[in-house]
Amino acid sequence: MKLLLLIIVVYIVYRTVKSWLIRNLQVPGHGQSQNLSIDDVMIKDPVCGIYFPRREGVELQHGGKTYVFCSSTCRDRFLEERE
Ligand SMILES: [Zn+2]
Repeated sequence: MKLLLLIIVVYIVYRTVKSWLIRNLQVPGHGQSQNLSIDDVMIKDPVCGIYFPRREGVELQHGGKTYVFCSSTCRDRFLEERE
């Protein structure tokens, strides 16, 4: 009975870790064409104003909000302007 419980716990942990890894491995950046049409949405860069696919953007958590920039250069500019 204890062993069964252990197996269930291990399975739940395994599932959680696996789904967490899948989510975190989809880091935007190097533009490798993954077939993730759900992330393939055009958004506007708040610094330079151009539109780009979200999955190719650079994310930044700032003041409880998530910003996405076309490049790390724009992200750095954004941070400099906020200081
Ligand atoms: Zn930009």
